[in-house]
Amino acid sequence: MAKTKIAVVGYGVIGQRLADGVALQKDMELVGVVDAAPTLAVRALCEKGMPYKLFCAIPDKISGLEAVGIPVSGTMDDILKEVDVVLDATPAGIGEKNKEKYKKFGVKAIFQGGEKNEVADVFFHGYANYEKGIGKNFLKLTSCNTTGLIRAVDCLDRIVGIEKVVITIIRRVADPGDTHRGLVDLLKIDPIPSHQAVDLMLIMPHVKATGILVHTPVTHGHIITIVATPKREINKEEVIEEFSKHPRIRVVRIADGFDSNTSLFRYARDLGRPRGDMYEIAVFEEAIGFSDKDIVFAINIPQEAVVIPETIDGIRACMNMQKDRLEAVALTNEYLGMK
Ligand code: NAD
Repeated sequence: MAKTKIAVVGYGVIGQRLADGVALQKDMELVGVVDAAPTLAVRALCEKGMPYKLFCAIPDKISGLEAVGIPVSGTMDDILKEVDVVLDATPAGIGEKNKEKYKKFGVKAIFQGGEKNEVADVFFHGYANYEKGIGKNFLKLTSCNTTGLIRAVDCLDRIVGIEKVVITIIRRVADPGDTHRGLVDLLKIDPIPSHQAVDLMLIMPHVKATGILVHTPVTHGHIITIVATPKREINKEEVIEEFSKHPRIRVVRIADGFDSNTSLFRYARDLGRPRGDMYEIAVFEEAIGFSDKDIVFAINIPQEAVVIPETIDGIRACMNMQKDRLEAVALTNEYLGMK
């Protein structure tokens, strides 16, 4: 069977990881990546010997890339003629402008969380609403926090039914290397409800959600605390069992040393994962508890890598590669090397 051909537009924090993730999928071909400047990521791609072809989004910028020794294989128009799906990982707002080009070349596109929801036909999550993405032209992925949050809530919802959730997001304020954010030393609070709670209800309209968000001056990983009201009672052992069975969730123990966001980052590096990436969210076993029948737990969100599997599920859905949700996510998981 012919492989589905993919371009990644915007080779930044998310784009680099999408490119690596797609390159691992045996039924997909990464035709190349698109950027517009000799960023550190583009320079690193060059120093690695150009494992992916680079195309330039702005023809006038080709000479600037070539002047610093970065080979350019063509323009964005050139690659759009060759692909079935674009994964747009440009900064917020640029995807909406790029959409006109995608329409012109008749390619499907999957946008990331920074774009407005209206950019897409469907607001998408591989586990929670795969079926809605089937055959659609434009999908938008949930943000990093919402992706992990929905993974966990959907996992419990499919077992016991979840009526409502109340969340607190402890959100890293900058990615590593984001020096433009300065040396921050504060905890900043957003008004209730956080967009993640609102977004959860868009994807899972049968669950009532609210929550607050606190920006914290760290660069690796978010932690979300969740209070979930189940339709029937469930005990701690069952909760642990269900989370443990989920290929994109790791149950970790504080007693074993997993006592922080950075312990997970370090563990991913020790596993030899590229860039210290972890696709899985982590649930801290000793932090699972109850308030009456409500389930209380906390998850770690590896913000730079968590959206990669669900974005790849999006390719499977929009290209109608698999009609069945579980068959689709299982293939993504297998090729990404998840249990
Ligand atoms: P980034 O700034 O790291 O990368 C964006 C890349 O796009 C840069 O390399 C930039 O040079 C390139 N670019 C700019 N204009 C372009 C154009 N016209 N054509 C092609 N390339 C262009 O951004 P990011 O953090 O990877 O975020 C991308 C998207 O992913 C955003 O919607 C963001 O909200 C979302 N997201 C980010 C994270 C995260 O942790 N950083 C997590 C989940 C989702």
